[in-house]
Amino acid sequence: AAKSMGRDRVRLFSPGLREAARWRLEVATRLRDEAIDQLVVYYQPVVRLDTGAVEGVEALVRWQHPERGLLGPDTFLSVAEETGQIIPITRWLLRETTRRAAAWAAEGLPLRMSVNISARHFSAETLVRDVRLALRESGLAPDQLVLELTETSVAEDPTRAEDQLTVLRRAGVRIAIDDFGTGWSSLAQLFSLPIGTLKIDRSLLVAAEQVTGGEGGAVLAAIVALTRTLGIRSVAEGVETVDHLRMVREAGCDMVQGWLLGHPMPADELPGWLRRVQEAGGDACALAAART
Ligand code: C2E
Ligand code: MG
Ligand code: MG
Ligand code: MG
Repeated sequence: AAKSMGRDRVRLFSPGLREAARWRLEVATRLRDEAIDQLVVYYQPVVRLDTGAVEGVEALVRWQHPERGLLGPDTFLSVAEETGQIIPITRWLLRETTRRAAAWAAEGLPLRMSVNISARHFSAETLVRDVRLALRESGLAPDQLVLELTETSVAEDPTRAEDQLTVLRRAGVRIAIDDFGTGWSSLAQLFSLPIGTLKIDRSLLVAAEQVTGGEGGAVLAAIVALTRTLGIRSVAEGVETVDHLRMVREAGCDMVQGWLLGHPMPADELPGWLRRVQEAGGDACALAAART
């Protein structure tokens, strides 16, 4: 059974065991052959909370499957990680997204581009080389590229993580920790890395919302205060409602991302979306709040 997921029409299915095994095999085979050509990148705006200005976008991969429709990353990336195909896929993504960001910048739309990097790529030796190649080919300024890594992928091999991140940071690339609050990494370890941004997972927002009497918000505020002390910027992920927006604003988050502000969208829709924000005074937060 397939269920539609949100406005960006990404499909998820909950297959039975046999179907699941068949799907894994199909993904493993197809991703090796034709499927890279069928991958498409959607872009979701990342917005500053103080001004509502659009800071950048996060690249989110989808698979335009010829029979099954547009598939979300959760349906195929885990298989790609197991087979190692995630590395050529990410290499392609880095080239595609840096080229796209450079083209938008040339059109007068400078956007910081965030790309998700999987643990598997991180433990291979090619990440630094792949990033450098993409930057060189696209001509994108290194500080316009943000690499998102999860706590868990850093925790798998902290020494190697620190080495690679230091090299990338020296090259001018920015580093973000993704899905903060879902892993069990040591804070000391995490904050010894050269990270510029912490992305607070949506689950913390949901948890905060369920606590009555303001203590939920206090947890968010404590995390934000910690990042401030360390000179790290914070992004609240999964902001869906005006209430969420108010909560993360009260907590003092620097940036927001979520369906309230903007859904992930194909590249050709982004310039039009940005134009609508510009026409509304450049404040994507105010625009979103006014629409609801
Ligand atoms: P993520 O990096 O934490 O990305 C955020 C996910 O939250 C995206 O799901 C996005 O569509 C979704 N999202 C955004 N706003 C909202 C909201 O307001 N509410 C809710 N409920 N969800 C929201 P998506 O695109 O399905 O991606 C899921 C995960 O797959 C990503 O989580 C990331 O870990 C991984 N992923 C996506 N693209 C790539 C990629 O190119 N490479 C790698 N290695 N992983 C990727
Ligand atoms: Mg991410
Ligand atoms: Mg995340
Ligand atoms: Mg996530």
